[in-house]
Parts: sequence; C-alpha cells; structure tokens
Amino acid sequence: MSNELLKTAALNLKKAVPLMLKHSIPTTPTNYALWYAYVSESNPKLNIALDATIAQNQQYSPTSSELLYRQHIADPVELDVRSMRQNLDAMVCELSQSLKDTNHDTTTFQTKIQKEFSKLAELENQGFSLEQVIKVVKNIVSESANIHSSTTSFTQQLDKAQSEINALKQRLAETEKDVLYDALTEALNRRAFDDDISALVNQSPNGACLILIDIDHFKQFNDTYGHQLGDLVLKVVAKRLQESCRDGVKLYRFGGEEFAVIIPNSQQRVARQLAEAMRRSIEKLSVKDRRSEARIDNITASFGVSEWKHQQTSSQLIESADTLLYEAKRLGRNRVMPISN
Ligand code: GH3
Ligand code: MG
Ligand code: MG
Repeated sequence: MSNELLKTAALNLKKAVPLMLKHSIPTTPTNYALWYAYVSESNPKLNIALDATIAQNQQYSPTSSELLYRQHIADPVELDVRSMRQNLDAMVCELSQSLKDTNHDTTTFQTKIQKEFSKLAELENQGFSLEQVIKVVKNIVSESANIHSSTTSFTQQLDKAQSEINALKQRLAETEKDVLYDALTEALNRRAFDDDISALVNQSPNGACLILIDIDHFKQFNDTYGHQLGDLVLKVVAKRLQESCRDGVKLYRFGGEEFAVIIPNSQQRVARQLAEAMRRSIEKLSVKDRRSEARIDNITASFGVSEWKHQQTSSQLIESADTLLYEAKRLGRNRVMPISN
C-alpha cells in the first residue's frame, strides 16, 4: 500500500470506529468492512441503504448488517482483515509521531526558559528590584505550568488512544482467528476446509488423503443428556482427533458432528492406519455428565478414507470419502472403510 493510500485508510478507520461506537455496532469483520466502506463513501448505494437502516431500526441488527454486506460488498472471504491491521499500524505510527513532536516542543520550551533565567540573572546585576524580578519569574513559572499540564494531558490522551488501538489490534487478531477456526471445537472450520481442499486438489499432489468422520448416534447424547453435554462430547472428540494429527495433518470441523482430516503426501494405507488409530482413541473416551453424574463411555465414530486420484475434483474426493463413511455406518458403525485397498 502506498503512503497516501495508507493515510486515507487510517483516516477512514478513524472515522469508522467512533461511528460504530456511537451506534453500538459490534466490531465484527463484517461490520468493519461495512462501516469502512460507509465512511470512504466509495459506494453511494450502500450509504443510502445504511442510513435508511439506521433510521428505521433504533437498534443495531446483525441480520440487516449481514444482508447489507452481502448486497453491497464482496464475498466475505474477500474481507481483508490484514489490510485493517495495516491501517491500525499506520494509526499507531501517526500517534507515536505526534508524541515525539510534543516532546520536541516541550524541549524547545525548556531551552527558552533556560535562556530567560540567564537573562534574569543579568537583570539582577543591572539593579532591578527584587519584586520586578519575582514578577518575571512568576510569569515564566505559570507559563511553564500551562504548557506542562497541556502536554501532559495531550500525552495522556495519546497514550489512551494508543492502548485502545492495541486492544483493537488484539481483537482483530482474534477475529482473524475466528475466520479460520471453529469456536466450539477449536478445529479449523468449514471455510478453511473448503479453501484447503481446493488448493490441495489444484496442486495435483503426489498422494493425498481425506478422512471424513461422523460421530455415531450423536443425536442420542443430545436427547438423553442435553445439548450442553453434546457440545462437550464434540469438544473431547475434537481434542482426541487433534492429538493424532501430526506432520501437516489437519483437522477440520466439517459440519455438526462431522470432522474431516486432510493428510498431504500419503497413501490410503497410511491414512487408513491413522483413521484406525483415531477410531480406537475415540472408543476409549469417557465423559462425565455433571448434571446426572452419569458416565458416558459409548462414544464411537465412523470413518471414510479416500485417496485423491489424478484429475479428481475436490467434490469428487469428498463424495468418495462420504460414500465410504456411509458404508461404515451401514455395516454397523464404529469402523473404518474401506477395510483394505
Ligand atoms: P449417525 O450414527 O447415523 O451419524 O446418527 P447421528 O445421531 O449421529 O446423526 P444425526 O445426523 O441424526 O444427528 C446429528 C445431530 O447432531 C443432530 C444435531 O442436532 C446435532 N448437532 C449438530 N451440531 C451440533 C452442535 O454443535 N452441538 C450439539 N450439541 N449438537 C449438534
Ligand atoms: Mg452426521
Ligand atoms: Mg452422526
């Protein structure tokens, strides 16, 4: 980004953030993009629509903001959190510069005062009355106090702004994480999976495998012990699966109680072994339901393992693993398919 662009971006962000605060808009990536576009006035239709939305609903609504975003701004994937961070960096830079300038001004003032003091000494020698001298001194002191308090409060303001910006940066970093990870299981999310699987297929890998995993009779856990326990089962299963993922093997939450594992540079035999190890480790899980004190140790999952075949599309690869997963379910669950190559 050129300096000019960076400056404009920083200015826009400076305008957008207070507006978002004013309307109590949560600082989600969607909202940043929306309000950023709003203040940059690059999209008049969006501004009209956003003004109307604010006028209509007294309160902020996530749905309308999401709809506005889809209507007026590109695909969410295109949302460039990184460029936002650059804008923030630019703001921090600017603020540090202002701080330096202020310090410089203060130093200059101090030098001036020093000069005044030496003049005073001369005055005294020239026989001015003590009262006159004191008057001059008092003036200098009060002026110096003024500049001191004004620079102190300015410095405080800048410090505050800077820490606010740092907090914002932190939040953006977290948002960036949200874009990739599933909040409940901490596995990579479906969007990450879609990106990765198409990238993988496009690279025409020399051997790569996909495992699709579906927890068996998961609905029962929800129905018997409640949704919260269901969530806990998802978490512990994900944790177990994650523990088996090494050397570039990645775990994704594919959907509700379904996970996917992408294994680069591997043959189906190796992937099947990994799936089998995962299956056994899930089988050993034991979770305690805090409400009923019941111990749940019948958690199992079914697995479909497919090796990418030359010229196969990502959908074909997924479909092939899904068919095998379905086979595993049909044959009685808690198993890995295919049994052998
Ligand atoms: P099968 O062995 O055939 O896979 O049976 P199943 O019960 O696991 O499959 P089904 O598709 O019938 O049910 C999946 C359930 O998972 C339904 C849905 O309510 C639940 N579910 C999906 N996402 C979540 C979640 O995030 N938390 C909880 N607690 N439940 C979820
Ligand atoms: Mg399912
Ligand atoms: Mg299931």
